Amino acid sequence: MKRNRGPLLVLVLVVYVRTGSAQTQVQLQQEAKEVAVSVLAGPSMQEIEALCDRFGARLTGTAAYDHAAEWAAARFRAAGIQDVKFEKITVPNGWQRGWAESYLYSPVQRKLHLESVSWTPSTPRDGVNGEVVVVSDISETALRGSTSAIRDHIVLFDAEHVFAAGFNKTYAKLIASYPIFKALGAQALVLPDAVPNNVLGDWLDIDNGKGEILPLPIAEIGMEDALLIRRLLAKSPVTIGFSYQNQISGPVPSNSVIAEIRGSDKADEWILVGAHLDSWDFATGAQDDGTGAIMVLEAARAVAQLPHPPRRSIRFALWTGEEPGLLGSRAYVKAHAKELDHCVAVINTDNGAGRPRGWIVEGRDDLKATLDELAPIYLKEYGADQVSLETTFDSDQGPFMLQGIPSFDLWVDDVPYNAIHHKSSDTVDKIDPAYFKTDGAIVAVLAYVIAQREEPIAPRLSHAAVGEILKKAQLDGYLIAHGDWQP
Ligand SMILES: [Zn+2]
Repeated sequence: MKRNRGPLLVLVLVVYVRTGSAQTQVQLQQEAKEVAVSVLAGPSMQEIEALCDRFGARLTGTAAYDHAAEWAAARFRAAGIQDVKFEKITVPNGWQRGWAESYLYSPVQRKLHLESVSWTPSTPRDGVNGEVVVVSDISETALRGSTSAIRDHIVLFDAEHVFAAGFNKTYAKLIASYPIFKALGAQALVLPDAVPNNVLGDWLDIDNGKGEILPLPIAEIGMEDALLIRRLLAKSPVTIGFSYQNQISGPVPSNSVIAEIRGSDKADEWILVGAHLDSWDFATGAQDDGTGAIMVLEAARAVAQLPHPPRRSIRFALWTGEEPGLLGSRAYVKAHAKELDHCVAVINTDNGAGRPRGWIVEGRDDLKATLDELAPIYLKEYGADQVSLETTFDSDQGPFMLQGIPSFDLWVDDVPYNAIHHKSSDTVDKIDPAYFKTDGAIVAVLAYVIAQREEPIAPRLSHAAVGEILKKAQLDGYLIAHGDWQP
């Protein structure tokens, strides 16, 4: 009997220390390492093959997305997490790509590389056929001054000039131009891609960010095809034609998948670790954002496997509707507005599984200061000790960041990612398994460290303080135009 009392006492002590308020840095370092090792030794590559090769492209509102969401919920449950929910949104219009045909009629005859841009309507049954006019200035004044040039024409954007100020600064003007082109009688708009080999996918996201059908057919065309048309146009009129039939429906439901590991002594405070499960439809969204989705699943599995729950609760989110406009995360922020005061941090991963760098902290000096202290202790060994003050608002951390919640976006070398982003080449074979697992470990470690610290990582910022960050990043105009921000 006596001999048993020693271990029992130790056990009681350990339980006290782990669930109580005191946890030493050494303990936390050890546990964070346990979490990381679990991800590093985990089945990330098998999981991403299951997701991308089995379900394929996962456009929001399609059956492929729905099946992937069911699969993801089952993976959370298989990791031992009981609390797994679907969080439903309604996309205003379902949209799926149909067949497309395109042809250069004169002065030479060629087949063209051309596809519909997302959420644009089908062409009339007989297609659009006519002379091409190049437009370099899409301001209302310029367009109204070129009425006769635009009427009945197919408008080819001079993208270099139209987007000279950058996409974010041009976005509002672009969206405002669509109804003007329609009113002036343009048959269709065509945007040239900028990737060699006539690869398409640069312009999938020029919809209105709301999942609503645009006012007229808009297509993208391969880089070399567009350059040929421009060269021919310098000498004589050019006539092209194209036809595509997309499947368009009324409102469709789609689900984000949310799994929660309830915390212990600080259970009411929560951290959200997220990535988007949906993808564009040209490829299987392996790097954008299949790898992010698997990092979230793997972080969940690693934390769930620990012998004790984290101190704060951790919610794992696989978002729907990121590509058509952050629809899932925006809806979540709205639906959970009353409990956002308890959200201590949002961790997002949507830059692919590249060589790790660290974290982007969306313009917050206070977060940078804290991470600069934490990173050498917990993240440096995985190559993730750099902190970027860039304000990106380019993924699902955005809606939370606007609410003043400390937001982190995984920062990796994204040069290889950008080369395949939204293209048919975004497939599993592009993933470096070592970087992928390391990035997953980094996500899990940061989530766990934030969950275990005595104090929240940083306060929630006021609306005015967020406004200052947006202004500094020159993002306020874009967000106001998009309806995301009111100063
Ligand atoms: Zn993405």
